[in-house]
Amino acid sequence: MTVARSFSSAAGAADDRRHVVVIGAGAVGSATAIEALRAGLRVTVVEPGEPGGPHATSYGNAGWLSSHSVVPPALPGAWLKVPGWLADPLGPLALRWRYLPRALPWLLRYLASGWTEAHVQRTADALRTLLADAPVLHARLAAEAGVPQLVERRGLLHAYLSRAEFDGDALGWRVRRRTGVQWEEWPQDELRRREPDLHARYTFGIFVPEAGHCRDPGSYVAALARHALEAGAERIATRATGFRIESGRLRAVLTEAGEIACDGAAICAGARSGPLAAAAGSAVPLESERGYHVVVEDAAAGPRTPTMVADGKLIAHWMDGGLRAAGQVEIAGLEAAPDWRRAEILHTHLRSMFPSLARPAPGPPSTVKHWLGHRPSLPDGLPCIGPAAASADVVLAFGHGHVGLCGSARTGRLAAQLLAGIAPEIPLKPFDPARF
Ligand SMILES: Cc1cc2nc3c(=O)[nH]c(=O)nc-3n(C[C@H](O)[C@H](O)[C@H](O)COP(=O)(O)OP(=O)(O)OC[C@H]3O[C@@H](n4cnc5c(N)ncnc54)[C@H](O)[C@@H]3O)c2cc1C
Repeated sequence: MTVARSFSSAAGAADDRRHVVVIGAGAVGSATAIEALRAGLRVTVVEPGEPGGPHATSYGNAGWLSSHSVVPPALPGAWLKVPGWLADPLGPLALRWRYLPRALPWLLRYLASGWTEAHVQRTADALRTLLADAPVLHARLAAEAGVPQLVERRGLLHAYLSRAEFDGDALGWRVRRRTGVQWEEWPQDELRRREPDLHARYTFGIFVPEAGHCRDPGSYVAALARHALEAGAERIATRATGFRIESGRLRAVLTEAGEIACDGAAICAGARSGPLAAAAGSAVPLESERGYHVVVEDAAAGPRTPTMVADGKLIAHWMDGGLRAAGQVEIAGLEAAPDWRRAEILHTHLRSMFPSLARPAPGPPSTVKHWLGHRPSLPDGLPCIGPAAASADVVLAFGHGHVGLCGSARTGRLAAQLLAGIAPEIPLKPFDPARF
């Protein structure tokens, strides 16, 4: 496996590098660990699970490296659609009513953040700075970690029932256009030619050539974490619980296995980052937007290009393990048991997208796997990337919601720059944890 030559080495008895602890080895933490090593820091990764394993959201996502996914889910008028989505048994949104009192303040802020086109544009402009060259950055990281085949840069497709349905999404595409996103429009015959398995009810496509896709996010994250270890990071398999901060300086990260003395730390614990951020003085309104996937092994049909359909609001594409459909938003917190009916909804949509999947095929039936994950979401649709209130030695790097795989490469660089005391390469004001 290749290890980038630009990593500094800990050769020699005394290691006087600044020591930083990266908490969490999902996509964000693993990228942060690599970039922190590249910045000349000594790195310890604290992660209780196997990096890239199914406990992490980075494992089961749709794999979209969608540099154009800059529009937050809540757009003007979204609140009008919510009752319809909730009432539809095959709809993309679900709410556990018992959890509503806890989620309500977050939900109201979430809807308010997309209240006007100006709000949405502000969010999109900021997200674009984080995501614009994500496919290139990921291709580079994947090559460096020895898994170049896992990142593809062949564009992504949004399939619509009609041109009129696309026009109904005009605001989002107008906002994207202003951030510099470009796309091709595929009329019915072009869509048919490019996607012969897709149901004929889809008659209009938007193809975004700049975007990319990860063929197996779990393996990709595992490879990034392995690469960090091979490049000199240490891993401690435990859970971080807090910080020892004295006079504004970080002295140690507290873990279930004891204290780790250090000079800096990055909180990259995805949807479970809230209590850690609070322990560093930054209470932020982090919520889980739960999502599901279904993987059909040996599927007989599917897309040529990773495809999102506007009617079911799900993404389908081939992963190394089979045909994956990912989507759904369920607001029920971190602890509620999975509701596998949400994954079955994805399966139903998948069979309706590709009708030949619904026909019995020769041989044994395909194995179908289900998964639940927690999108770490802040109500304004932007992550937290910046110093904690109690100490600038602690960097918050979480809350990427629907775009955390895509945004992890740039976020890793930014978190490492903050940890190393280097000026961040993009303005971090929109991501400042203190905005709440
Ligand atoms: C259905 C679905 C589809 C999605 N599709 C896409 C997509 O196509 N493209 C995209 O860009 N994004 C997508 N996302 C979002 C994306 O998966 C997440 O935003 C991203 O994975 C978050 O990465 P992370 O590293 O912040 O968190 P995680 O991957 O959850 O990693 C956090 C890590 O921190 C560890 N941890 C937790 N607590 C502690 C602790 N106390 N101490 C130490 N370690 C701890 C965990 O064990 C875990 O390994 C999707 C999400 C879902 C659910």
